[in-house]
Amino acid sequence: MKHIQFVDLTRHDNEVKKEIDMAIGHVLTKTDFILGENVELFEKEFAIFCNTKFAVGVDSGSSALELGMRAIGIGKGDEVIVPVNTFIASAFAVSATGATPVLVDCRKDTYTFDINKVEKAVTKKTKAIMIVHLYGHIVDIGEIKKLSRKFAIPFIEDACQAHGAVYKNKKAGSFGMFAAFSFYPGKNLGAYGDGGMIVTNKKEIASKILLFRNYGQRKKYEHESMGWNKRLDTIQAAVLRVKLKKLDQWNKQRIAHARLYNKLLMNLPVVLPILPKKTEHIFHIYAIRASKRDKLATYLKNKGIATVIHYPTPIHLQKAYAHLRYKKGDFPVAEETALELLSLPMFPELTEKEIIFITKQIAQFYQ
Ligand SMILES: *Cc1c(COP(=O)(O)O)cnc(C)c1O
Repeated sequence: MKHIQFVDLTRHDNEVKKEIDMAIGHVLTKTDFILGENVELFEKEFAIFCNTKFAVGVDSGSSALELGMRAIGIGKGDEVIVPVNTFIASAFAVSATGATPVLVDCRKDTYTFDINKVEKAVTKKTKAIMIVHLYGHIVDIGEIKKLSRKFAIPFIEDACQAHGAVYKNKKAGSFGMFAAFSFYPGKNLGAYGDGGMIVTNKKEIASKILLFRNYGQRKKYEHESMGWNKRLDTIQAAVLRVKLKKLDQWNKQRIAHARLYNKLLMNLPVVLPILPKKTEHIFHIYAIRASKRDKLATYLKNKGIATVIHYPTPIHLQKAYAHLRYKKGDFPVAEETALELLSLPMFPELTEKEIIFITKQIAQFYQ
């Protein structure tokens, strides 16, 4: 068996390569590289996809989070509640606004945010609760809505791993005050470089972000507000428009892979992810919990199978956040699961044969 990559972008793009080359070619001919027509078209199409009123393209998922929070007035002296088990960009975006991330432990079954622990983290300074649909699994929206109402604190969505996930007939990104998406190449909807998007139903938020992303100007050289250069590239928008048409199909393939993995790994000493009833989990990441995790990862590597750990060090133990003065033991579930989590290869074009091969190697390791 040939080496199996964690995400094989060459195989992933094969199906759409010609169409993407053509789309890029059109942009090169037209030379509307900055806020060109593809950006606006992609924004319209992505808003329809998420069933939100507005979508504004930006240069990354991190910028989407940061500008979204700035647009609702979050800044210095404020606190935002963030799950401890997420990619650090969720917390960094809070810090970028000048506010402080207040971390909350995760659940042992889904690895997302433990809603029961959020209440204790709320203070007078809390301005928002950031939910992260980790690995592609939508957080229990019913619970979060109740909590948000109880404290009268809005919740915002980091949907950077959940493009196209659906909860009770509504898409990830359509629940919170606003939602942030990343189009980093390895995401379920990935660009040929960096990119991001904010979706919202609130016009005030969308119009603020239109200003923020483009030097605070509506008209050239008239700067109404502070602003940045955080625009989505036209070339990336052109690529993403082609890929968006395939996203639902690709997500279905990922779910099918997850079902097969679960079936084949059932009797092994590993904890399997919860399978979705429909598409509540679109498996950006397929993560198991394995005993002797590090030895297993090395074993698989030697068999030509790439794995990744999401995430090896929880945010509160990262050097970058030493100033927040968290310590070991503060978030026991995140700390414990970080020692066992292992993500297996996952991308739409992965074959049944490959999944059988991977699971056989795991079985052999535990024999
Ligand atoms: C990828 C990711 C981000 C950041 O997106 P970038 O486009 O890399 O800035 C934020 N949060 C989560 C959960 C992510 O997975």
